[in-house]
Amino acid sequence: MHEFAIARSLVEVAESTARERGASRVVALHCRIGVVRQVDAGSLREAFEMAREGTIAADAALNVTQVGMELDCQQCGKHVELSSWGFACPACGSTDIRLHGGDALELTSVEMEVCDDDRDYKAAHSSEERASCGDESFAA
Ligand SMILES: [Zn+2]
Repeated sequence: MHEFAIARSLVEVAESTARERGASRVVALHCRIGVVRQVDAGSLREAFEMAREGTIAADAALNVTQVGMELDCQQCGKHVELSSWGFACPACGSTDIRLHGGDALELTSVEMEVCDDDRDYKAAHSSEERASCGDESFAA
């Protein structure tokens, strides 16, 4: 359950961010996941629906942005962005390549409602915070 572990850590980071900000509820989570992580967006969404239960993010939406990887061909010098996992240069077919990026696993923002006054929920406003997911960060 690779996706469930990711979903749970996303919810945990969202919860602690919401707690820090005194938010009453989390509206949405935005994250970036690299193709190298081989995360299935559908499975992640299902896992997220389980992980968010009973938390401050119980009805939060999950927005996933898939991040591609970059390839530098040592043979023909081509620099391309790949949308999926690749082991050869798409231009010349050489396997003498360098790959970078594509390993992002990052919660880029959390949308939440912050109440200034508990008795007046109409005063709620949205706040966006940047937070990184666990100890994994995006390697540029
Ligand atoms: Zn090439």
